[in-house]
Amino acid sequence: MRKPFAAGNWKMNTNSRTSVDLAKRLADEASDAAGHSVTVAVCPPFVYLQAVTKALNGSSISVGAQDLYFEPDGAFTGEISVSMLKDIGCTYCLCGHSERRHVIGETDELINKKVTAAIKGGLLPILCVGELLEERKAGKTNEVVTRHIEKGLAGLSLEKVEAVTIAYEPVWAIGTGLTATPQQAQEVHIFIRNLLGKMYDKKAADEMRILYGGSVKPSNTAELMAQPDVDGVLVGGASLKAEDFLGIIQASIR
Ligand code: PEP
Repeated sequence: MRKPFAAGNWKMNTNSRTSVDLAKRLADEASDAAGHSVTVAVCPPFVYLQAVTKALNGSSISVGAQDLYFEPDGAFTGEISVSMLKDIGCTYCLCGHSERRHVIGETDELINKKVTAAIKGGLLPILCVGELLEERKAGKTNEVVTRHIEKGLAGLSLEKVEAVTIAYEPVWAIGTGLTATPQQAQEVHIFIRNLLGKMYDKKAADEMRILYGGSVKPSNTAELMAQPDVDGVLVGGASLKAEDFLGIIQASIR
């Protein structure tokens, strides 16, 4: 039985006060659910990770980074290593978010290095995959998702891949208010699970969590979570409002 997972990606939002206020409110009101019925994580901007970790201390809400660099240390100006993230209490790390793929220009090869480094250093990667609108219109959704997953997980053993969570995030649904229908999400999620079954084995595929992301709101979470292969949600905009994210956490519980 896969435990539901609600993760919030704060992107380049909040400040030193609002990040801590949001974390404290979540710690106060979501601690009971988090850890028991649902895994909850928030991914603040790097500069607020430590303050947010402190504000969440004692709650069951985990902290994730939005990105990492794959080298352990050295002359990589502006980058943040896995050991730095572990050092300040991070548990998760997003890898290959669509904004990093399409705005910053990250390749599948770079994302694979990040996923590999995260696991090696003890962080749990959330590998984001998903097609652009034109790719969906051209009937290429499965092709794109296959490429993102095969290349993103390249070289990972069965034992290592168990640390990975997949997030299916159709790019046309991110921050646009357009959510994939529960059926559209389920179709891709079962496709991904079957692909993982072929790449690894059925047991590993059945155990891996596959989150949906793309304009998730409190009002559409339950119908997405009702799909058999939707194991959780990765939430951008709505995770910045405490009421909304709390509503999403509640609606994620099965
Ligand atoms: C995201 O950032 O991963 C995301 C899905 O954003 P939004 O919920 O705002 O669409």
